[in-house]
Amino acid sequence: MDILLTTVCKIFIHCDIGMEIPQSTNFIEEIINEDLKNNVCTGVITRFPPEPNGYLHIGHAKSICLNFGIAIKYNGRCNLRLDDTNPEKEDVEYVESIKHDIQWLGFNWDGEVRHASDYFQQLYLWAIVLIKLNKAYVCDMSAEEIAATRGTPSQPGKESPYRNRSVEENLDLFERMKNGEFPDGSKTLRAKIDISSPNMHMRDPVMYRIKHATHHRTGDTWCIYPTYDWAHGQSDYIEGITHSICTLEFEVHRPLYDWFLDQIASGQRPRQIEFARLNLSYTVMSKRMLLKLVQEGYVSGWDDPRMPTIAGLRRRGYTPDSIKIFARTVGVAKKDSMVDIALLEHCIREDLNTKANRVMCVLNPLKVIITNYPENKVEYVEGINNPENQDAGIRKIPFSRIIYIERDDFMENPPKKFFRLSPGSEVRLRYTYFIQCTDVIKDTSGNIIELHCTYDPQTKDGYAPDGRKVKGTIHWVSAQHSLPVLVHLYDRLFTREDPSQVDEGNDFTDYINPDSLKTVHGVIEPSVSNAKAFTNFQFERLGYFTVDPDSHNNNVIFNRTVTLKDTWAKIVQKEG
Ligand code: ATP
Ligand code: MG
Repeated sequence: MDILLTTVCKIFIHCDIGMEIPQSTNFIEEIINEDLKNNVCTGVITRFPPEPNGYLHIGHAKSICLNFGIAIKYNGRCNLRLDDTNPEKEDVEYVESIKHDIQWLGFNWDGEVRHASDYFQQLYLWAIVLIKLNKAYVCDMSAEEIAATRGTPSQPGKESPYRNRSVEENLDLFERMKNGEFPDGSKTLRAKIDISSPNMHMRDPVMYRIKHATHHRTGDTWCIYPTYDWAHGQSDYIEGITHSICTLEFEVHRPLYDWFLDQIASGQRPRQIEFARLNLSYTVMSKRMLLKLVQEGYVSGWDDPRMPTIAGLRRRGYTPDSIKIFARTVGVAKKDSMVDIALLEHCIREDLNTKANRVMCVLNPLKVIITNYPENKVEYVEGINNPENQDAGIRKIPFSRIIYIERDDFMENPPKKFFRLSPGSEVRLRYTYFIQCTDVIKDTSGNIIELHCTYDPQTKDGYAPDGRKVKGTIHWVSAQHSLPVLVHLYDRLFTREDPSQVDEGNDFTDYINPDSLKTVHGVIEPSVSNAKAFTNFQFERLGYFTVDPDSHNNNVIFNRTVTLKDTWAKIVQKEG
């Protein structure tokens, strides 16, 4: 099992039915424990029910970790059910990406992928049951008329003039709706509940709409499609779901969820439990907004490394473990809140600290000629691959007369506390010699084009036998051994903490960070030459980077995952 659950699974309590139940760690598990204790259910079956109308994002990842995590913890099952009741917006590309992302996170659904559309026939038959019970009727009002007569939270709605049609007439009209006799939007099937209920969702909600649309699975078989409310609970019931976990906005739908089940269910039935959806600062999570970013070219696609999609995070260099740790750290709450994106960044840093090998890469190269180093000599110095992981071993890094260093690591007129390279000063090259700058070479416009330095052959191992110290250590790459790299320096996509809260007259796209992507040409040590796509590295002193899947031998591309500066750790330190 993954690291997430091993720690939380350690404590067990014994219950009456003789089954070991893990001690609760959140309110959802408390409810499940109670249900198991009271024999409301004998095992736990959850489901993850995405609508295939976009790629999954980090909010979905939280729901996935929760639903699949609970199934694992209780030795139960979790279904993947595509909520495909909206034929126009759905796409096979989305279905494939959803499956891939869940598996990449390390979860397996029970059996085959399920679909709400698998149950269209059963839902139709149950709708007929409701009509026969005089609890559903065909209504001829348009969507606008229905909305206009639903009332407001403080005012009751108005009954539909079609509400008292006879059972026979309803059965006939509903069948003709199904047979395609009526145009889109001309009729609906509505539940007959209570038009003046204080809960707006109970005011004769729509169960079926007419849509002459081709469905990606059922083709043209159906021209009536069930609404979310009618499809969801019944699908849960068919699959034997015990706990139907969803986000808070469905809390007000729960009486309706239960009402529908009251009409059709006998025996064990699912229980809906709501938790707060994840909101992340400097991020939008609505699929409508994400789709707009893709369609209007603000990003390069659903897997653009700046997107909060699982595909985007993967391409950015996030690992499944970092996302699971994040989901666990955030926990489940009953109240909406905004999570600081710095926490997500902290989770990936912590994970990569032990997993990513260190390498030296120079992002803004400045040529350095070591004038007293023999022309054709090459030495190999030893680099520690990962100081946090002994097993990662060491590598040999070539060193020669011409190297590149970071432009920022040299200053011609340095301020007092600048401990890197400057004329006359001495600095340590990571893993090896001390060098001292003797000459600054400029072009005719006065730009520095190279430095001449000397090295001290006595300092090969990074210290001087005479005990003299240098304060700075800088990274470098041997010029003749270097590989050119294209590096995408990604930053947060938005400049505003909550980009969905727009000022009047603005659109969320107005808050896109103009500096969210900078591309630079750097040089890197040769050890990375065969690294596979998605391999994570720490570029010493610069941050964590991952190999982009479009990278190949003559065009090595890296994406910056995060810098090394952990603002979350700082916040925690301050508060602690
Ligand atoms: P959107 O409103 O962006 O279209 P959605 O909620 O309609 O998202 P679905 O595909 O229906 O997206 O969601 C599938 C599951 O993921 C649902 O159970 C939903 O509650 C959950 N989910 C979606 N967004 C979040 C979020 N931000 N945090 C936690 N769970 C989420
Ligand atoms: Mg939805």
